[in-house]
Amino acid sequence: MSTIGFIGLGNMGAPMAANLVKAGHRVIGYDLLPANAAAAEAEGVAIASTAADAVRDADVVVTMLPAGRHVLAVWADVLTHARRGALFIDSSTIDVDSARQAHDLAAQAGMASVDAPVSGGTGGAKAGTLTFMCGGAAEAFATARPLLEAMGKKIVHCGDAGAGQAAKICNNMILGISMIGVCEAFALGEKLGLSHQALFDVASTSSGQCWSLTTYCPVPGPVPTSPANNGYNPGFAAALMLKDLRLSQDAAQSAGASTPLGQHAAQIYEAFEAAGFGGKDFSGIIEHLRQKSA
Ligand code: NAD
Repeated sequence: MSTIGFIGLGNMGAPMAANLVKAGHRVIGYDLLPANAAAAEAEGVAIASTAADAVRDADVVVTMLPAGRHVLAVWADVLTHARRGALFIDSSTIDVDSARQAHDLAAQAGMASVDAPVSGGTGGAKAGTLTFMCGGAAEAFATARPLLEAMGKKIVHCGDAGAGQAAKICNNMILGISMIGVCEAFALGEKLGLSHQALFDVASTSSGQCWSLTTYCPVPGPVPTSPANNGYNPGFAAALMLKDLRLSQDAAQSAGASTPLGQHAAQIYEAFEAAGFGGKDFSGIIEHLRQKSA
């Protein structure tokens, strides 16, 4: 059993912390929003009144926060209050440069650290079936692994500091681009008089096959569990897809990589959000594409 300080008890953090409690760990949580802290408390998380108090006795500190600036501010604060040698894990989705800065802050304070962003959404967080993509030293990853297994089912060590965030944004850039591609194909098929089911039956067993089509089909019918059958309620909100596409473009610029389709996908999701649909599932982009072609 470990003592874990858990900072950021939102939609993802609260169920992740609850799974650590279920696995027998002592979890001391903190969130700026009292309502979010109270919800986690109901799941067995002890609530501290400051971030510093949450980490004071911790063997491991986990952060699950909105963006890089929040992670850097919280780490800069709590690293001075934690026990020397504690392991710091950040599971937020943040930019690669901030993730590397966070590792540097931890090293300067004598702490081990892992960047460990997730995929699987709030459903995966509740079910304990998240995928963790990890970056950091092999020893830090080995210490983190059993804890991550209490919250996820696939744990991948992607490389050194920042490699987990790099894998996450590269994966989500594929996802954003492929979803637009699948939506364009259905919108074109409609204009050509092709039924959704016919296109699905062909493409799902042909070279156009991909997750955006077979698991998350953006038109109602072929995949009954996809958000298209539920008014495009998320799921994975378009605003979060836009966040990840922007992170991929920041990283591409900083690393000097050419990603023209990633850039265009970000522009398309920006227009979707500006039209007021950031809260819709990201597969709802098909409605935006249809309107543009009408
Ligand atoms: P959320 O907004 O529900 O939760 C973030 C929490 O952090 C909030 O409760 C907020 O009050 C708290 N917080 C912010 N600043 C704080 C501070 N200084 N100290 C303490 N608490 C603070 O967001 P979420 O959906 O839980 O997402 C968290 C991270 O996980 C994000 O980086 C997101 O991109 C990523 N993510 C989300 C999903 C998803 O489906 N929601 C999936 C994969 C990854």
